[in-house]
Amino acid sequence: MNDQKVTKNVKEIKVDLDKCIGCRACEIACSAFHSRPRFGATNPARSRIRVVIDELNDVYVPIRAGDYTPAECTGRHKYTINGKEYNECSFCGVSCPSRDYFKEPDSGLPLKCDMCEEDPTLSEPWCVQVCRCDCLTYVEREELVEAEDEPRGEMELGLESLMNKYGVEKVLDAVARVSSKR
Ligand code: SF4
Ligand code: SF4
Ligand code: SF4
Repeated sequence: MNDQKVTKNVKEIKVDLDKCIGCRACEIACSAFHSRPRFGATNPARSRIRVVIDELNDVYVPIRAGDYTPAECTGRHKYTINGKEYNECSFCGVSCPSRDYFKEPDSGLPLKCDMCEEDPTLSEPWCVQVCRCDCLTYVEREELVEAEDEPRGEMELGLESLMNKYGVEKVLDAVARVSSKR
């Protein structure tokens, strides 16, 4: 455990729900930015932001992908908006076994918003740049926080999620097969 304080650059995307029209341009832009080659394809299923759309009730809620969890949570809330009831999963940004959202469609690997980290740094993340309704606003600020232990990388989380999905043996078999072809 580390009790040192460090300055952290906190990046936020503020969401003004009153301005969202559910156009899903943010989903398209995010999937294009993260495709290989970059901007080579669009597929909202690969986006790290998804827009919950309920046209009848005029409800549009953009949600960015957060952390991966190997287990779904218990004890959920319910939300009622304009008379329609939603459960907590509706607005949750977690890549979770309870549903297919925020998972790479082919591999099942978890997707997480990375704020479009790029070198050189973008002026604003892509979802913010393409949102013509000013629903999304990018904000940066400095915050004094506890020094964190080494964060877990995407590779480690990806392997963990594959093992949870297919079992350790199948994943190890696949790794052995790939290695032997080299
Ligand atoms: S681009 Fe903006 S207005 Fe369109 S769905 Fe995304 S957040 Fe909403
Ligand atoms: S999607 Fe979110 S709210 Fe629903 S079970 Fe998973 S972690 Fe919990
Ligand atoms: S900040 Fe970048 S990675 Fe995150 S949802 Fe927006 S476009 Fe996708």
